[in-house]
Amino acid sequence: MELKKADGNIYKLIEAEKIRQSEGLEMIASENYVSEAVLEATGSILTNKYAEGYPGKKYYSGCEFIDQIENIAIERLKKLFGCKFANVQPHCGSSANMAAYLAVAKAGDRILGQSLDAGGHLTHGAKVSFSGQIFESFSYGLDPNTGLLDYGEVEKIAKKVKPKVIMCGFSAYPRAIDFKKFKKIAKSVNAVLIADIAHIAGLVAAGYHQSPVGVADIVTSTTHKTLRGPRSGIIMTNDEELAKKIDKVVFPGIQGGPLEHVIAAKAVSFGEALKPQFKKYIENVLGNMKVFAKTLMAFDFDLVSGGTDNHLILVDLRSKNLTGKDFAHALHEAGITVNKNSVSNDPQPPMITSGVRVGTAALTTRGMGIAEMQRIAEMFNAVAENISDDKELQKISKEVKQMCKKFPVPGIK
Ligand SMILES: *Cc1c(COP(=O)(O)O)cnc(C)c1O
Repeated sequence: MELKKADGNIYKLIEAEKIRQSEGLEMIASENYVSEAVLEATGSILTNKYAEGYPGKKYYSGCEFIDQIENIAIERLKKLFGCKFANVQPHCGSSANMAAYLAVAKAGDRILGQSLDAGGHLTHGAKVSFSGQIFESFSYGLDPNTGLLDYGEVEKIAKKVKPKVIMCGFSAYPRAIDFKKFKKIAKSVNAVLIADIAHIAGLVAAGYHQSPVGVADIVTSTTHKTLRGPRSGIIMTNDEELAKKIDKVVFPGIQGGPLEHVIAAKAVSFGEALKPQFKKYIENVLGNMKVFAKTLMAFDFDLVSGGTDNHLILVDLRSKNLTGKDFAHALHEAGITVNKNSVSNDPQPPMITSGVRVGTAALTTRGMGIAEMQRIAEMFNAVAENISDDKELQKISKEVKQMCKKFPVPGIK
């Protein structure tokens, strides 16, 4: 009520966003809905506090409660992933990656990561990112025939380039990753292995994907994708020396005061992820994705790699004679949100693309199940067949709204 009085413009826009989030089908693979408890911690008075430094060694007075909160976040994170050391201060996944690189490499060193158009993240060495500017970056792609990671190719490039760091873990890869194979390659060329599990952190925490903890030298992640926490980042390792270096890079190296309200929200979300219900949730995310993918394929949609092992798929639209941009736009008209995404060797530029990336993490949080997934896949097909028929798209959007009414979003009444 205060916001409505003090700043009607922002209030109105937040209310509009609430309606958008609750009346549409959110299928952007990197998005999710946090619990009301996580929302409450994120919106708390902890945002008022400066707390530079680490628990017990803060530079400001008055950190007695902040320290306890941060320690709880660290302990829960260690328990959740079974790691020995954790830093919960990175503001986001990108700053977690920046800190991880700078803990083990310096400007000009060589890094090797997945190329952006093959599903890597900007921070894995893209030239427009700090990672491609500070470091000399090299990249590996996917096998163009199978759409799968080609570990032999990664090894070949690693042997040639001799990078200081190998980065693995992706934004748009629908298959399981073998961190042990990456470690073997990294070891053979004396490189540090960083595993970025931003997308699959929830799957790893729930035991539905091989864990890189204890395999990779450093593990980084976001907390807001399948892990279903607030928008933020984390870094983990089992190596005490590396842990000290990481702490120093995060603060004072690249950040000042940590966002303690977000750290509290992370602690709450880690607590949620430690509960048996979270395992069930991830099981449902995967089950929903399987059904959704299978139904789409029955409508002759091409999926990169022929399917999925995780919470996302990459749809290659070339066989449907559609671009990612046009299909994503038409889906949006129908009330369904996805993102356009390049596919391997995409003939279209990044602003157009030949694919869309689709995930089930957010819809599963709302409680949607098999029946909804089948129906939504049918809607995808109807949108593809009626790409420029506004009337048809409006009809679908009405049905989307009806469906959404039955599945409330946490924190939106
Ligand atoms: C989302 C993502 C990130 C970046 O996270 P931000 O919080 O947006 O900075 C980093 N790495 C991967 C693999 C991601 O998918």
